[in-house]
Amino acid sequence: VAPPSAAYLEGLNAEQRRAVEATEGPVLVLAGAGTGKTRVLTTRIAHLIAIGRARPFDILAVTFTNKAAREMKERIGALIGSAGEGMPWLGTFHAIGTKILRRHAELVGLKSDFTILGTDDQLRLLKQVIEAANVDEKRWPARSLAQAIDGWKNRGLSPEQVPAGEAGAFGFGKGGKLYAAYQERLATLNAVDFGDLLLLCLRLWRENPDVLTGYQDRFRYILVDEYQDTNVAQYLWLRLLAQGRRNVCCVGDDDQSIYGWRGAEVDNILRFEHDFPGAVVVRLERNYRSTGHILAAASTLIARNEGRLGKTLRTEEGAGERVTVTGAWDSEEEARLLGETIEGLQARGHALSQIAVLVRISAQMREIEDRFVQLGLPYRVIGGPRFYERAEVRDALAYLRLTANPADDLAFERIINTPKRGLGDATLQALHSLSRRQSVPLLHAACLIVETEELKPKPRSTLRALLQSFSRWAKLLEIQPHAEVAQTILEESGYTEMWQKERTADAAGRLENLKELVRSLEEFPDLPAFLEHIALVMDASEAEGGERVSLMTLHAAKGLEFDTVFLPGWEDGLFPNQRAIDESGRAGLEEERRLAHVGLTRARRRAKISFAVNRRIHGLWSSTIPSRFVDELPESSVEVIEAPASFSYGPSRFDRQPTPFGSSYATPGWQRAQANTAGQDRFGGGARSSRSGPKQIEGTLVAKSTGTASDYATGA
Ligand code: ATP
Ligand code: MG
Repeated sequence: VAPPSAAYLEGLNAEQRRAVEATEGPVLVLAGAGTGKTRVLTTRIAHLIAIGRARPFDILAVTFTNKAAREMKERIGALIGSAGEGMPWLGTFHAIGTKILRRHAELVGLKSDFTILGTDDQLRLLKQVIEAANVDEKRWPARSLAQAIDGWKNRGLSPEQVPAGEAGAFGFGKGGKLYAAYQERLATLNAVDFGDLLLLCLRLWRENPDVLTGYQDRFRYILVDEYQDTNVAQYLWLRLLAQGRRNVCCVGDDDQSIYGWRGAEVDNILRFEHDFPGAVVVRLERNYRSTGHILAAASTLIARNEGRLGKTLRTEEGAGERVTVTGAWDSEEEARLLGETIEGLQARGHALSQIAVLVRISAQMREIEDRFVQLGLPYRVIGGPRFYERAEVRDALAYLRLTANPADDLAFERIINTPKRGLGDATLQALHSLSRRQSVPLLHAACLIVETEELKPKPRSTLRALLQSFSRWAKLLEIQPHAEVAQTILEESGYTEMWQKERTADAAGRLENLKELVRSLEEFPDLPAFLEHIALVMDASEAEGGERVSLMTLHAAKGLEFDTVFLPGWEDGLFPNQRAIDESGRAGLEEERRLAHVGLTRARRRAKISFAVNRRIHGLWSSTIPSRFVDELPESSVEVIEAPASFSYGPSRFDRQPTPFGSSYATPGWQRAQANTAGQDRFGGGARSSRSGPKQIEGTLVAKSTGTASDYATGA
């Protein structure tokens, strides 16, 4: 046991300490936001190492995002110093699954350099599969099939295991067959998708018990963060692995389960005690993150959900500032107020890195980003497919992928005629048919075809030159730094030139991105390491350091904390999201509420909710009403700023009443007033032009001011 003076244990409360020191056997920490669950995990790792129970590589720690993994690595590094013994296996389920699969790829029919497909490539592949099966892609779009397959994979189901009823639900009864065909295509491509990373591990372990035993022995201690969001496949994966030594510690919070739509099951929490009998269950009740009003708002809101495991939370941080709720005329004004408020905070010395804007859907970001760009406010988008999803970046990556892995047919298809070099559909068709006949990758087929008369002389010589380039680049990789080679590839292929010729502002931005891409390569030991990183962060692109505001979806904000958190777009339909409610009814609404709870509990000092009474959704303006979640906040912890005049703050502060029209929410007063103007262009005349000046509609919708930053940020 560590000496009581061990520095890393200092400051832990008794319960936290119990969770840290219960090293042997299963432990479940079930506690609310900000109670130090993640901190317990990191400290536990430090403790295991410090008391000599484990060496770093005996430990496996699973985090929910790459960002969380990186933060945990930093925290552990700080706790144990660079002991020179390496680091624990620490990453997301996907990252760890990848690492394991690379080592045993051949046992599941892959080569160790398999490609991990991003969403884009997955869809392209599915499209091909759907076409090949003569299913109407218009009726059964690739996207829906992708969703179905992901769902099955999340539940740990291989094509044979999909229940017949479900398998038949897609593509005129062909769902199961399409899934199987897709898996075959993946195998020939030496590729996997995200779901496979775990599914194939499961198969690997089931079919090779000795491999499983090896890992069970190796990972003497297993730790899992954000346990409430594991899906069935992840759970099965974990259970197999943990059943060896049974030293498994999971931490989670049922009130923060927000990935139900992705197959996460809160039941896993309940199942834990069943599968690991005798588990020590620790509850933490002190929230160290947020001030009183924020915590009160979050707790009151979540109390509306039924079927919670229930918990008490207290803070000793003092009441702090109230949660502010601000109404804006439209989403553009909302973005403007947001920008001004942030500038105000910045002027008062607040660090931008301690400010986050959390949106419900990523489409909300563009207006906010535009505003930030106009203001020159540095920001980063976290968890959003931004940089790496850009077309030029994906093209460049395809060149690099194909150089690293000649069997990467998707990459081949993407770049064979980009830039245009006269290798169009006819060439590609010839290559496809040869590749099928000979069962070889497209690049290989290309090498064969240029030795025949099949292609016309011009494309044949172009293709031959391209192939020669690829083999030269592959050789260069062995002797030159990979970032330099990447640069060479982009130049010699004519790709950079393609954009240089364009001479538009857009093209200039793209060239910048290509430069940035080459620059980012330098941070990796070699090209495969870089490509693997890309595949993993595709859904969680991470910007470089520096003082920036963070912009992300609520989903991506899990586990993070910021001094100031902005929560725009609290409007019924947007948040709670209508689609979630339509699809899953009450359960959908409760998950939305948990999402709101996650958002509020990210804030340490300031939470700032806002809504717009007009929003453009998919290009169309529509008027909106404030989110029912606003009504559910405790009045005593909320301060309303610049709400349109007719909003009376009280029990029915936004004038919601059951209506005879099915919707349980009445049209608020201001909106009724607006409706009186029916027949007129709602955005014409005074109302519309008011967007840039004081606003007034029939005297009821009066913004107290044009929404100055100081109003919005009162108390900041
Ligand atoms: P979430 O549910 O949002 O993931 P969490 O339970 O994982 O939250 P942490 O992120 O571990 O909570 O901790 C929240 C904050 O409280 C962090 O800044 C952490 O450093 C701090 N904290 C946790 N425990 C203590 C403690 N005993 N003393 C001081 N600060 C603490
Ligand atoms: Mg946490």
